[in-house]
Amino acid sequence: MNKKNNPTIPDTGRFADRGVALGELATHFVVHCPKCQKKAQINPTKEPASKVDFRLICSDCFHVETVGHWYGAATAHVSVKCRECYRPLSRSAPWNGIWKKLAMHCTHCGDNCEYEASITYGHFHDSRMTDPVFGLPLWLQKDFRGELLWAYNYEHLEMVRQYVAAKLRERGIDPRNTIRKNSSMVNRLPMFIKKASHREELLKLIATMQ
Ligand SMILES: [Zn+2]
Ligand SMILES: [Zn+2]
Repeated sequence: MNKKNNPTIPDTGRFADRGVALGELATHFVVHCPKCQKKAQINPTKEPASKVDFRLICSDCFHVETVGHWYGAATAHVSVKCRECYRPLSRSAPWNGIWKKLAMHCTHCGDNCEYEASITYGHFHDSRMTDPVFGLPLWLQKDFRGELLWAYNYEHLEMVRQYVAAKLRERGIDPRNTIRKNSSMVNRLPMFIKKASHREELLKLIATMQ
């Protein structure tokens, strides 16, 4: 993350949201290694990085992986007309990461056939947030009163910490910019993070994650 994107906290305890979008924080990811479950980094191999320009490196078992296999949640979906009677058929099923066809049964004419499915990738798997490149569980996530506090990387977590720590929150003042307000990461933080009564407890939790 560029330094210019960092929100500043003057001594007044103000948090000036510069409108950094979540996508701008998604530059690299700290996740659980798919081989040993310890801490691994997913970093871009070139800038600007598209989804394929990332590489995972585990600092524990030294496993290295290039983009290809998706470990996260995915759904296969088919919406077609039956090849025999032309009635609409649709079905969704969890995708296992290999076979991109779904077996379909037409209740109208009884035809059975496999159809090519479109795949939707999820960002939530086994009750945990995952990265958007490999779908691996994020390293920085903790349960908090039935909610999930998570961050893609340490810079992202630090920005959340600064937000929680600030006594006075302001929006769109630095710079005076209203266009990006709604997509700002801070603006979209869930309510449990914004609640003043949770501040002390959240800061303790974030400190254990940092
Ligand atoms: Zn490993
Ligand atoms: Zn049919």
